[in-house]
Amino acid sequence: MVLSERSPGACRLLVLALFDLLAQSAAWAKAPAACPRAMHLEAAEIQAEAVCLLRQYVAIDTTNPPGNELATAKFLKAYLKREGIESQIFESAPGRANLYARVRGDGSAKALMLVHHMDVVPASVTDWSVPPFAGLERDGYVWGRGTLDNKGPGLMEVLAVVMVKRLQLPLSRDLVLLAVADEEQGGGKGARYMVAEHADLFKDVEFALNEGGLMVQLDAKHRLNALEFAQKVPLWLKVTATGPAGHASAPKPAAATHVLVRALARLEQFQFPITVVPEVQTVFTYRANALPPAEQDAWRHLETSLQDEAFRTKFMADPRNALMVRNSIAITMLSGSTKENVLGPEASAVIDLRLLPGQDPKAVIARLQEVMQEPAVKVESLLSSTAHASPLDTVLAQAIAKLVEHHEPGAKVTPNFIAGFTDCNTLRAAGIICYGFMPMHLPLPEIERVHGNDERILISDFVEATLQMHELVREVAGR
Ligand SMILES: [Zn+2]
Repeated sequence: MVLSERSPGACRLLVLALFDLLAQSAAWAKAPAACPRAMHLEAAEIQAEAVCLLRQYVAIDTTNPPGNELATAKFLKAYLKREGIESQIFESAPGRANLYARVRGDGSAKALMLVHHMDVVPASVTDWSVPPFAGLERDGYVWGRGTLDNKGPGLMEVLAVVMVKRLQLPLSRDLVLLAVADEEQGGGKGARYMVAEHADLFKDVEFALNEGGLMVQLDAKHRLNALEFAQKVPLWLKVTATGPAGHASAPKPAAATHVLVRALARLEQFQFPITVVPEVQTVFTYRANALPPAEQDAWRHLETSLQDEAFRTKFMADPRNALMVRNSIAITMLSGSTKENVLGPEASAVIDLRLLPGQDPKAVIARLQEVMQEPAVKVESLLSSTAHASPLDTVLAQAIAKLVEHHEPGAKVTPNFIAGFTDCNTLRAAGIICYGFMPMHLPLPEIERVHGNDERILISDFVEATLQMHELVREVAGR
């Protein structure tokens, strides 16, 4: 049964909304309800605990904005306390919070941190075939906003550490759990806040694992075991035009909305030049190994190859490739007049640019101002950052490769550069080696549900990934 093909009637929607409300109030009232405790590294036991926790975690609505991650931070804190793991909550704004916990090792090696974000993107009840915040279990899945991004993976990390503590396994490295707010809005109240305001908490953290890389089932035969080590970074700009206000029956070319539309039209037509940064070349050099020998050389020298028109056309035809060699521009939020027949004094747009490593945001802004050809348009930076990469020759990368090979003999890990951004970039800027890697297996169509409709996690994979995360933690931090 394909749930998303049902068309919900108004009555059903009301019931769904009611379900949501009940689920949320229940979660707020008594978080967390007791779950079975797994005492062995055994799938059925882990499943009972993991599913019980995830259903409750998803039922706490942390849609960002406004976020409300204080509720989930309290939920995790209460759960960890029962396990004898002390944690601290850091409030970055009213209702916004980050949770930090540490399980001690013998101090012979630096800490390993497991990071996830507690906030989720909005889910519209009308577009979903199940209530998005009910934590519904059905057909072998847990359904709900955040099951994949990022509450499910977050619980894999939490359980991996809890099982270390419960089984009293000796550690060389401290294990740090970090659950952050605000990732979906740039991390200003989350990872960025934590690193800026509480830097001391991270000074002995050598490695971090976060979202951004997983095992993608491309088709029946091919799987990509992606390890994210570098990414594009956001540059969010607000572009504002001002002009004479007045009655729309006498339109003026200098009206704010008209100026803005002209500027945006030029921006929409503009493309940044093709640039091959070293991190991207690393990815393609690696991928070249899987190609027929005659094609390998071109991928190993992308900068040169892309000067050839035939190669460039073929390469750029794949949008995933194109995103890796060029800054991107998307026009997102628009606002102008508030009335049909009024030309307002101001009109604005938000531009979401994603920059390759090594780009200077100031130079990019200057270039865009040239492109827009409207000197009166004001450009304001809402979010700006520079990209950092993590080295690939580390014990954590080796442990990940070993894990993948252990569970699928012959399988290799592929270094990946992503066009999206995660909190890893913030952590890298703070000197931490951060990888996007979760041992989850996702077919491509399931990935579409992330930030889409009917997000869900396959329970059997959730359990397997939790066990593998525990295995990885022991490999890197065990004694
Ligand atoms: Zn996420």
